[in-house]
Formats: sequence, C-alpha cells, structure tokens
Amino acid sequence: MKAHEIFEYDSKYIIHTYKRTPVIFVKGKKCFLWDIHGKQYLDFVSGLAVNNIGHCNFKVTSAIRNQSYKLMHVSNLYYTVPSVKLAKELCRISFAQKCFFCNSGAEANEATIKLTRKYAKTKFGENKHTIITFSSSFHGRTMGTLTATAQEKFHKGYEPLLPGFKYANFNDIESAKNLIDENTAGIMVEPIQGEGGVNIATQEFIQGLRELCDKNNLLLIFDEVQTGIGRTGAMFAYEHYKITPDIMTLAKAIGGGLPLGVMLTKDTIAEVFDYGSHASTFGANPVVCAAAIAVLNIIQKEKLIKNAKEMGEYFLSKLQNLKAKYNKIVDVRGLGLMIAVELNSSGEKIVEECMKEGLIINLIGEKIIRFLPPLIVTKKEIDKAINILNKVGASLLAQ
Ligand code: PLP
Repeated sequence: MKAHEIFEYDSKYIIHTYKRTPVIFVKGKKCFLWDIHGKQYLDFVSGLAVNNIGHCNFKVTSAIRNQSYKLMHVSNLYYTVPSVKLAKELCRISFAQKCFFCNSGAEANEATIKLTRKYAKTKFGENKHTIITFSSSFHGRTMGTLTATAQEKFHKGYEPLLPGFKYANFNDIESAKNLIDENTAGIMVEPIQGEGGVNIATQEFIQGLRELCDKNNLLLIFDEVQTGIGRTGAMFAYEHYKITPDIMTLAKAIGGGLPLGVMLTKDTIAEVFDYGSHASTFGANPVVCAAAIAVLNIIQKEKLIKNAKEMGEYFLSKLQNLKAKYNKIVDVRGLGLMIAVELNSSGEKIVEECMKEGLIINLIGEKIIRFLPPLIVTKKEIDKAINILNKVGASLLAQ
C-alpha cells in the first residue's frame, strides 16, 4: 500500500478516536523507529511507556516465536507453563503473592475495582463500596475506570457514570481524609500521574495514604500501569515510598509490546475472588506471558533500572539547562525516565518541529511535553534529543 492510500483508508475505515500525526511507522529497533519513506526517528515516547526495553528486542521476539510454535491459546480452564512462570516471577520481585492476568491497564483496574468492592463487602459489610481517587488521575476508558479517572473532560457525554467513586485532591492528604466515610472501601492512586501531567506524589502524601488505609481498613491501590517495570528508576514506583500497596496494577511495558494487564495482590485479599468471580478469555495468553518473562529477564540482567535512574538524572539536568535558557519553560520534573517539561503556552508546534527533525515526543493537554524514552537509552541519544530541542527551541522556546 502507498502512503497516501494508508492515510485515505485509515480515515475511511477506522473510527476517528485518535488525532494521528501524519507518519506511518514500519520498523523499530532499540530506541529508533523508521517511517514508510525510510526516515529514522529517535523514539522518546516508547509507545506511551510500552517499549521500555526498546523496539523488537531479539530475546523477546525469540520468546514470542518459540512459544507461538508450541501453543498460542487455550482457555483459562486449563493450566499453561508461561502464565505460572510469569506469576511466580512477578510475586518474587514485588510485594505480591497472587496475580490475575488480563489484557490492558483498564482491564486490570476494572479487576481491581471489583476485587476492592468484594473484599470490603465480604470483610467489613455490604455498604462498603466507595473508592477514592485523585484530581488529574487517569485509570482507563472503560465505564468503571473512566469514572475512577477524576478528570471531567473524559466523562463528558458518557454520563451516568458508575456510582461509588469520590475525588480528592492529589498530594493533599487532608482532602482524602475528609472523604472517608462508612462506605469507603479503598483509595486508588498513581504514584506518579502520567496522563495528568507527570505529577509526582510526595513521600508524606503516599505514607499518609498508607496510614489512612491501615487506620480505616481500606485497601491502598497503586495504579502502576505507566510507572511499573523500571520506568521511574525502580522496578515499581511504590519502592520509592518505603511502603507497599495492597493491590497494584500493571500493563503497558510488561508485555514488551504485546497486550498484557496484571492485577497483583496479597493472599488474604485475593482469597475473596473464588471460582467465577472474574475472568478474561485472553488473560494469561501463553505467547504474551512468554514475552513478559523475557522482558523481566532483560530488565534485570541488563541492569535497565540502574540505567533508567542514571539516564533520567542526566536527561533532567540537561532539561534544567534548557529551562535556564528559555523563558517559555516554566517547570522540568520527573523520576527515572518519566519526565515532563511544562511550558507557559502551547507546545504543539515544538512537538511538530521535533518530529520533522526526527525526535518523537508527546504533548499532554496543551502545555506539557512528556518524555518516555526506552530504558536502554544512552547519553549519546539523550544528547541528540537535547540538540534537536535546542535547535527547535531557538525560535519556539525563546519567546
Ligand atoms: N492507568 C494508567 C496510569 C495509564 O496511564 C493508562 C493508560 O495510559 C491506563 C491505566 C489505561 O491503560 P490501557 O490503555 O492499557 O487500558
């Protein structure tokens, strides 16, 4: 198919829920992508925090190929080898003792909403069902996770929303405390909000939430769909806060580019889910689980968490230099390789010009530029990105 046909057919046959950039990617390797015309791009979006180990890692593609020759799918009514291996490894490297597998972040959060309600009702009474979430959060697009997402712009047109959610202010422990009542079942938070603008939860806030949950018999839920799997310079972002959640959700990077969602929790909570409580046809798919096992091996063996931490600090310092140089940059923040630059006006043109120069970056809302490079990124690649930002910034960031 020619490029113009792809644009034409996409417009004709695919529902227009995405505002796409006019580029057609055909190949990826490590931190780079190539478009249909052979142009190379440095990818600092990583499929929105999915390609943490870079594009098309040979160990992952081999794991996918090998598993796909053996067994592609059986129902969850039967046992398979990769799902058990993956669950065992996830429990070994985290606080968790049990996993539930599904296909996406929203689906993992849906499972969590159900488990939280069932646990609270079973242990503490039928009235317990409310979950507190936070301003600028993002938890997914299904009706449940959309309601959990405390941003009105995502709700519009879809009312009535699911009952049983209350919204507190992010990084404001008092506002969460004030919302707790006899119906509250849990508190759900992203330790670093991704879609909300790379907002980092403070130590006091997270530790305060843990205390509130312990005191009031509530489940503390960490949505680590975006922050998990090394992204923030720790395997899971909860490690930065010296506490453990009761439930954690993962998706995005865990499948190495294939769709996988996971809900992780402790035995005492998982036990309220019995036969028939929840299910997913494709959850724990053997091919996807084989890919995820390879991803976790690579992250650990190739010390990518250390690299994410070091390269994140290096990138942040370079971006701070840009802030000192350009008036238009009002804030630079991030943890590991989850980084944002906030501007005082629209960043649309900057993202567009960077793309022309071969650097892929992402705009959240209007004014926040988000950087999510693969965790394998090198100083040389960061310097390349900074050079492009400087080149584009000379005219667009100086005003
Ligand atoms: N939770 C968080 C923190 C996210 O960033 C996202 C997606 O961006 C989701 C949930 C939803 O994940 P998915 O798009 O896989 O349903």
